[in-house]
Amino acid sequence: KSGFIAIIGRPNVGKSTFMNKVIGQKIAIMSDKPQTTRNKIQGVLTQSDAQFIFIDTPGIHKPKHRLGDFMVKIAENTLNEVDAVLFMINAEEGYGRGDQFIMDRLERVKSPVFLVVNKIDLVHPDKLLPLIELYKEKYDFEEIIPISALQGNNVTHLLEVLKNHL
Ligand code: GDP
Ligand code: MG
Repeated sequence: KSGFIAIIGRPNVGKSTFMNKVIGQKIAIMSDKPQTTRNKIQGVLTQSDAQFIFIDTPGIHKPKHRLGDFMVKIAENTLNEVDAVLFMINAEEGYGRGDQFIMDRLERVKSPVFLVVNKIDLVHPDKLLPLIELYKEKYDFEEIIPISALQGNNVTHLLEVLKNHL
């Protein structure tokens, strides 16, 4: 099994941290500047029975100018060509306009979209469930997986779920 996985989400939700945890090397660019790179391979994880090729699509963020619009179009095309999309959110910050902008773009995406609720180490479990319910109302996610990219909680489970969709 082998597949392309796009990781999207607002700046600072933990995409690079997740990549570093999964790939185990400091290869993901740790820059906070969005839209500095085009679609590209962030890293490749090769397991005995599966290979995950992670793709970065920075253009999905809210465009600030015309080049931004163009980048959004490229990002949307990319998202339709991958095997799965990981939409990562920050559990501590919760729902906001930045996430809604991305979810609006996702309405045109045909690939399965997984909601990755990151930084669960920072939130009380009582707050996590209402947050998940809120996002469930906004988009028809394939599955919702809470993780801590920093501490590694549930990251193996996320990879197992992805593997079943390749
Ligand atoms: P990116 O912009 O989406 O690539 O976000 P980064 O991976 O650069 O992470 C932004 C900040 O959030 C960094 O300071 C990370 O250490 C922190 N961070 C990422 N994941 C977690 C997590 O699961 N728990 C906590 N507590 N912090 C995290
Ligand atoms: Mg990053």
